[in-house]
Amino acid sequence: MSRPARGLELFVSEELIVGIDLGTTNSLVAVCDAHGPRILGAGGAMVPSVVRYPAAAGEALVVGEAAKRDATLFPVRTVSSVKRLMGRSATDAAGDAAYLSYEVVAGERGAARVRIPAGEGVPERVLSPEEVSAAVLRELKSRAEAALGRAVSKAVITVPAYFDDAQRQATRVAGRLAGLEVVRLVPEPTAAALAYGIGLPRAGAKPASVMVYDLGGGTFDVSVLRLTPGEGDEPFFFQALAVGGDSHLGGDDFDHALTGVMKREVLALLGLAPDSTLDPATTKALVEFAERVKIRLSDAANASVRIDLGERVYERVFTREEFEALVSPMVERTILAAQRTLEQAREALAGEEISAVVLVGGSTRVPLVRRRVREAFGMEPYTALNPDEVVALGASVQASLLGGARSGALLLDVLPLSLGVETQGGAVAKLIMRNSTVPARAREMFSTSVDGQTSIRLSVYQGEREMAADCRKLGEFHVSGLPPMPAGVPQLEVVFAVDANGVLNVSATERRSGRRAGLQVIPTHGLSQSEVERIERESLLHAREDMTRHRVVDLIVNGKLDLKWIGERLAKHRAELDAAYVGELESRVASLREMIDSAERDWRSVDPSKMHQAKEALDRASMRLQEVAITQSLREQPRKL
Ligand code: AMP
Repeated sequence: MSRPARGLELFVSEELIVGIDLGTTNSLVAVCDAHGPRILGAGGAMVPSVVRYPAAAGEALVVGEAAKRDATLFPVRTVSSVKRLMGRSATDAAGDAAYLSYEVVAGERGAARVRIPAGEGVPERVLSPEEVSAAVLRELKSRAEAALGRAVSKAVITVPAYFDDAQRQATRVAGRLAGLEVVRLVPEPTAAALAYGIGLPRAGAKPASVMVYDLGGGTFDVSVLRLTPGEGDEPFFFQALAVGGDSHLGGDDFDHALTGVMKREVLALLGLAPDSTLDPATTKALVEFAERVKIRLSDAANASVRIDLGERVYERVFTREEFEALVSPMVERTILAAQRTLEQAREALAGEEISAVVLVGGSTRVPLVRRRVREAFGMEPYTALNPDEVVALGASVQASLLGGARSGALLLDVLPLSLGVETQGGAVAKLIMRNSTVPARAREMFSTSVDGQTSIRLSVYQGEREMAADCRKLGEFHVSGLPPMPAGVPQLEVVFAVDANGVLNVSATERRSGRRAGLQVIPTHGLSQSEVERIERESLLHAREDMTRHRVVDLIVNGKLDLKWIGERLAKHRAELDAAYVGELESRVASLREMIDSAERDWRSVDPSKMHQAKEALDRASMRLQEVAITQSLREQPRKL
């Protein structure tokens, strides 16, 4: 029926291999199938990389959320951040071990080991970091098996770009201990790029250079890599051109900056000296409130806190501007580090420019971070995927390729379905038609149909049917903060751009006010080839009916605008017009209004051609009214001296 589009058939592999992001704080497992990559596990699919060892005989090992929740109750039996110890000697890991609640000791040949003290009926245990990681991996494996309904025995696991041989080897061992054959270890930034389809094999593919900017809770990693298309069993090769970052900079520092402000104000409120210390419980509460304020400010313009301090209540509204001013120096440090890393990669790049910037890590949800990255590197960074999931998703893409996904079958890069926005009345205005080759770009002007709108909603759809309800919604966003204007006056420029990797950027700019907003999505994700075929069949089946409906909807919207305009003018100028003309106009208004009312109840009840005629007749008849109105408004203009 149609050629398979890239990103669809590509992911159908013969063998089941999962992708795992084995993180310092959280871990995730994903699979890539006919629908593209997806995270496995119900609800909060993230598994905290935390393991608690039994305190008494008969108790079970606790892994994940439960272990994290009660970590403060069992500090010496709860092992977290074990990734920092993987493949390292106790001496090398000493700096990190200082921050851990459990004991790190030297084992054979000085290797870092975790010592869990004896409990009731349980002997002391000295564990390798591999064993602890294996407990996390076993949990992920069983989650994947539950979600897929079948056994899972092979995995691709991601590791930081800076992991050395010993650290990589330790990760392999952890996999084996968990009953998983580690088919491949993939650097985290490479996985992030793959999740966006960068470097995937395709016709005429050229090497691609990317920057991956990863800002988490406690660390910042930046890498510049090159992905080169390969052949056969090796779909591509990757090469890290430069890595950099700051191992002690992240979202937690944003929290601390906010906590500092709150602490100063709380002390002042309580009448205490600025250098006084607060009790630990209050300090902990402030840090938690600070993180909540930060997260809220990623979506809202302001966030309020209210903390009951017993004798007083601390109430405060933080604005996004204030937060941005506070964290800006830290964000600038990441930008500088990223620029330095790019500079280091210059020689290897040999004049070539990076073609994409990928954002990873929870802290890249901060709008200031996105804006500064966009400004500093002159391109829209990739943000369509959840920044916490992108590494696991990419690992699953690599897994599906290693599992024999049919990457060679791809002939050309075309968009499988049309893309557009919902307009008044629920119809879809298509901006990019299906089968367009990528990259593709389209631009169209829109306006409002209601007076005084200060916010315009844009809903983005994919599909072939005429009505939004019959298409697949990709997302929505608002252009807000507009000054109130009459209907039809705002000029909204909407741009759709699909890049070579199939990532869609939609942006909308209101020209008069300069207000802008946008959205990024990967239209092919979640869509299989068989679904595309079903959508095509249905659109053919409904083609005629859909066209009629779209026409009726447009006539309703435009007809209502005419009625509104004529009604207003007629009320104002009735006295200047002869009765016969007013009578004719009113009867035409009544007949169009009747058709619109009927069409709004059931679009099938009207004949669109008759409705079109009624609208045209009214437009013609209203010419005189229009002339009178214009003459009048000219007269009302102040006379010039
Ligand atoms: P990660 O280490 O990648 O899991 O990132 C965790 C960091 O991301 C923490 O500092 C979180 O507070 C931060 N974070 C998560 N969601 C948001 C958000 N919506 N806005 C700002 N920061 C966030």
